Amino acid sequence: MNTEFDIIVIGAGIAGASVAAHLAETRRTAICEMEDRPGYHTTGRSAAAYEPNYGPPPILALTRAAGAHFRQGGFLTPRETLFFAPESQEEAFERLMAIQKGMVEIPIAAAKEKFPPLRDGYARRAVLDGGTADIDVDLLHQSYLKLFRQRGGEIHCDHAVTALERNGGWTVHTKGKTLRAQIIVDAAGAWGDAVAEMAGRKRIGLQPKRRSMAVVQGPENQDFMSWPLVGDVGETWYCKPQSGKLLISPADATPVDPHDAYADDLTLAEGIARFEEAVDYAVTRVERSWGGLRSFAPDGCPVVGYDARVDGFFWLIGQGGYGIQSSPALSRLAAALVMGQAPPADIMDEGLVLADISPERF
Ligand SMILES: Cc1cc2nc3c(=O)[nH]c(=O)nc-3n(C[C@H](O)[C@H](O)[C@H](O)COP(=O)(O)OP(=O)(O)OC[C@H]3O[C@@H](n4cnc5c(N)ncnc54)[C@H](O)[C@@H]3O)c2cc1C
Repeated sequence: MNTEFDIIVIGAGIAGASVAAHLAETRRTAICEMEDRPGYHTTGRSAAAYEPNYGPPPILALTRAAGAHFRQGGFLTPRETLFFAPESQEEAFERLMAIQKGMVEIPIAAAKEKFPPLRDGYARRAVLDGGTADIDVDLLHQSYLKLFRQRGGEIHCDHAVTALERNGGWTVHTKGKTLRAQIIVDAAGAWGDAVAEMAGRKRIGLQPKRRSMAVVQGPENQDFMSWPLVGDVGETWYCKPQSGKLLISPADATPVDPHDAYADDLTLAEGIARFEEAVDYAVTRVERSWGGLRSFAPDGCPVVGYDARVDGFFWLIGQGGYGIQSSPALSRLAAALVMGQAPPADIMDEGLVLADISPERF
């Protein structure tokens, strides 16, 4: 394996794998990943949903611009999303209706046809999004890693970056070896600020937030695999069929330090109780659970671009709860910016404002 590269990407989650696949087309590119396999942290723990109405404005633009890649590559299986507003959430419902594209309010009786266990009296209003889908996250991630390797990219797993030295380029010290590159791309997920600090940059205040997920049996004798993704509009629970089971999340967002996350049992129990208030169906047993870290910049928008103070340091962090659905567009945009090219027109046409994601806002 080589030790000299044009670009070293730190992190082999969806952010690092996808940007590296684009960069490797014209640049000698390596990925350093601290775990023994790509996707061990947040990328392997998502709910795998494509929701073009979910997220702050830059994410909406990126997610919509990503739609074509998802569809052409066969990464999506359509699944509607149905949000309910119980009595206390009518304002949140109005806020969603003001920014959405293509969602339609439907009568509660029609919502119950799509989601039969809906408890009478729970929802005041219901809104349906017909443009959402399940993402095959593993297929997507592997497709980028395959393209990266085909283009001559090198992936160094089990190589945590432990120090970065700026000396007419970068010397990258890892657990196993020392590498050199002109440019560093920080795609380290929850560890994004720790990597920036190694490069001599002040932290931007990236905050990892834990989200927990329970896997439960669906109700017997019901075709629950055809249900939409359902949740309350105030985001205190959601439920989604997956692989013959139901996933239930308390939609928790508990601030934590970066670590190998796991579900919090009490939080899970509280979330399942909120789900049970919405349905005529009792969850008898949690078969398994997991937790993952959604990492947010202080304003909730991604951080993408060269640092103005640290030469050759490129940020690609803060994708929050939307890093899979935005990745096809975000990686094309990031690769163009790394190479000093204009941002892709189709992404800008969706209304993306580069200043909203620039690291210079911190
Ligand atoms: C429960 C849950 C549900 C979600 N649902 C959705 C959803 O439905 N749709 C959606 O779009 N998004 C969803 N997300 C968010 C999405 O999963 C993330 O935005 C995305 O995976 C972030 O990707 P990443 O590559 O930035 O981070 P990661 O996948 O965490 O990758 C970062 C990598 O950097 C590596 N790393 C860190 N430090 C170093 C170092 N010093 N040296 C070398 N390597 C290092 C880590 O090992 C890790 O592999 C969800 C997240 C969670 C937790």
